[in-house]
Amino acid sequence: MGIYPPSLERLIQQFTRLPGIGQKSATRVALYVLRSDKELAESLANSLMEVKEKIKFCSVCYNLTDDDPCAICRDPNRADGTICVVEGPGDQLALEESGTFRGRYHVLQGALSPLDGIGPEDLKIPELLKRIDSEGIREIIIATNPTTEGETTASFLVKLLSEKYSDLKITRIALGVPMGGDLKYTDRMTLEHAMKSRVLINQ
Ligand SMILES: [Zn+2]
Repeated sequence: MGIYPPSLERLIQQFTRLPGIGQKSATRVALYVLRSDKELAESLANSLMEVKEKIKFCSVCYNLTDDDPCAICRDPNRADGTICVVEGPGDQLALEESGTFRGRYHVLQGALSPLDGIGPEDLKIPELLKRIDSEGIREIIIATNPTTEGETTASFLVKLLSEKYSDLKITRIALGVPMGGDLKYTDRMTLEHAMKSRVLINQ
């Protein structure tokens, strides 16, 4: 038996099912909801149901969207012959928020991980190939994460795409020292990547 009334106990337990929320945070959030006026609980409950009912994957780029195809895939100005390939919707959002890329995206819905049994057939790779043909794509920017899985996925895509499309430009986002970083606290792998991805600055 918990120390709180059963209904509050149940709410705390529900919050602990969310990622990154332990017992303490769950209790704090549940008590906050309890103390707040009814409007907060109502809009919270409505928003939770709304995302489950409305949000789906875009049938073109597999990004999260209310409408299918998504706004980016519908926007003719974004059809510039480039596709930026990312692992998940969160990565797409981060890039989009940065405002640095004005082409279209393709969300793989994961990364290759042989140890976890995730192979190419589990990712949206055939769908990407279809788009290269149908959308007249000239450049694929591989923006998978700098992790073992992300790097494995990038290498796989480079091999597959360069074998299949001889005149397709394939690029990888630069990996290296973060802004505000300090070389002496940067790990060896990151420094190695940074050195490999160095750019010419005197021209
Ligand atoms: Zn889309």
